[in-house]
Amino acid sequence: SESNSRVHFLLIPLLAPGHTIPMIDIAKLLARRPNVVVTIVTTPVNAARYGPNLQPHIDSGLPVRFMELPFPAAEAGLPARIESADSLPGLHLLPNFSLAVDMLQQRLEQRFESIEPRPSCILSDRYMIWTADTAVKYGIPRIIFDGMNCFKQLCTHNMYLSNVLDGLSDSDPFILPGLPDRIEITKAQLPQEFNYSDLATRDQLERVRETESTAYGIVINSFEELEQEYVNEFKKVKNGKVWCLGPLSLTNNNESGKSVRGNGKSTNEQRIVEWLDLKEPGSVIYACFGSSSRVIPQQLIELGLGLEASNRPFIWVIRAGDRATEIEEWITKTGFEERTKDQGLLIRDWAPQLLILSHPSVSGFLTHCGWNSVLEGVCAGVPLVTWPLFAEQFLNEKLVVEVLGVGVAVGAPRVVHWGMEDKFGVTVRSEQVSNAIRKVMDVGIEGNERRRKVKALGRVAESAIEEGGSSYKNLTLLIEDIREVAKRH
Ligand code: UDP
Repeated sequence: SESNSRVHFLLIPLLAPGHTIPMIDIAKLLARRPNVVVTIVTTPVNAARYGPNLQPHIDSGLPVRFMELPFPAAEAGLPARIESADSLPGLHLLPNFSLAVDMLQQRLEQRFESIEPRPSCILSDRYMIWTADTAVKYGIPRIIFDGMNCFKQLCTHNMYLSNVLDGLSDSDPFILPGLPDRIEITKAQLPQEFNYSDLATRDQLERVRETESTAYGIVINSFEELEQEYVNEFKKVKNGKVWCLGPLSLTNNNESGKSVRGNGKSTNEQRIVEWLDLKEPGSVIYACFGSSSRVIPQQLIELGLGLEASNRPFIWVIRAGDRATEIEEWITKTGFEERTKDQGLLIRDWAPQLLILSHPSVSGFLTHCGWNSVLEGVCAGVPLVTWPLFAEQFLNEKLVVEVLGVGVAVGAPRVVHWGMEDKFGVTVRSEQVSNAIRKVMDVGIEGNERRRKVKALGRVAESAIEEGGSSYKNLTLLIEDIREVAKRH
C-alpha cells in the first residue's frame, strides 16, 4: 500500500574507520525496520574490510548491500589498494586521497539511474561534500551524518557567531559562549577551523559548513538522555531535523559484531581474552588512540612509561604509523616489553575494542576522545582517562570530564596533530598519565562515584536503542519523514 512504500537509503560514509564503522551500524539499524532497504556506497577494499561484520546479517536476509565504486587511486597518484585514510603511508598524500574521493562523484552518478529501487535519500558523512550536489541533481534530500554529539555541534555553532577569540593568545582560557554550563577552554584546544588550519583546509571546512547548513537534516551518534540540554539547544538553532540515533555501537551487542567490527582480518583475540581472564576484575586500564591518530615517538614513550608507573595492568594499542620502527627500537633497547610482561599487553594491530571494553577485568579506558571511543567506553560502563589530540576531541573531553563527570583529564594542553606533532614535541608527561590513571582506577569515594555515573549512563544508553527508547523512536521519525518526502516525488 501507499503508506508502506519502500524507502531506500543510500549511505555514503567517509573512507576512514571512525566514520565508516558507525555508518555500517546505521545500515543495520535501518534495514531491520519494515520496508526499508539500504545500500552502502564504498570501494572494493573497504567493502572487503567491513563486509565480515555485515555478512551474517545479509545471509540471514537483511536488505542491505554494498555498492562498490572502483577507487581511482592511480589517477590520483596513490599507491594501489590505499582506499582508507588510516592506511595512507604519509600525510603528504592526503590531498591525493581527497582528490580520489572527489572523483567518486562521477563514478556514482554514472550508475545512479540504474540503482534499484530508486534512492529516496542520501545519508552521507558531513565531509563527503560532493554528495550534496548529487542529491540536488537527482532531486532527493541529503541528510548529514555527523558522527559526533550535540555538545560539539552547539559549541562550534556558537563559536562561529562569536568574537570571543578576538585578541586572545593561544593559551588564554576563555568560556565557551552560549552554553548551559560554564566551560573553560583555550584557543589552542579548539578544532582546526578555529586555530591552525592552512588556507586550503579552512576553505574545505568552510564548504563543509555551507553544505551542512543547506542539508535536509542531520543524524547524530548520541542519545538524548546523555546531553539533553545540549540536544534541546542545538535543535533550536538547527530548526528541527536533528535525529539522535545512538549509541550506534550497541547494534553490535553480540560477540561476532564485537570482534570483527572495523576490520575483516581476525586479530589475536583469543590471546587478548586469555590475558584478560587472568587479571583481577576491574583492574585493567586499556589505552588506545583510535584508528588514525599520529603521535610522535617521544610522546608515545611518555605514554608507555606512564602506563608502567601507574602500577596497574594495562593493554596498550600502539599505532605509530610511518614511525613504528622508532618506537619499536625504543621498546627493544630499553627492554620495556620484557620488563612489563606481567603487567602489560602490547597490541600492534587492530584491537577488538568492544570486546576488550566489555571484559570484566577492564575498568579504565585511556582514550584520545574520538567520539566513537568515548561512547563505547560509556556503553561499557568504563570511566575514561582523557587525552585528546586533535579535531573536536578537546570538546569531547570537556563533555566527558566536566558535564558528565565520568572521566579524568591527563591535562593535554593543545592540539598536536596532522603535521604539527613535531612542532610542539612532548606536551604530556608520564607522571600526568600515571596520576590520571590512578585517579580513574581509584576505589575511593571519588572513583566510585565516577564509576557509578558511567555505569548508570551505560544502562540509559541501552534503553535508548531498545524498542520505545529515544533513539529507537528517532529512527522511526527519520524513516517516516523520508517516506513522506519520497511519496511527494
Ligand atoms: N577501533 C578498534 N580497534 C582499534 C582502533 C580503533 O576497534 O585498534 C575502533 C573503535 O572501536 C572505534 C573506531 O575504531 O569504533 C575509532 O573511532 P574514534 O571516533 O574513536 O576515533 P578515530 O579513529 O575516528 O580517531
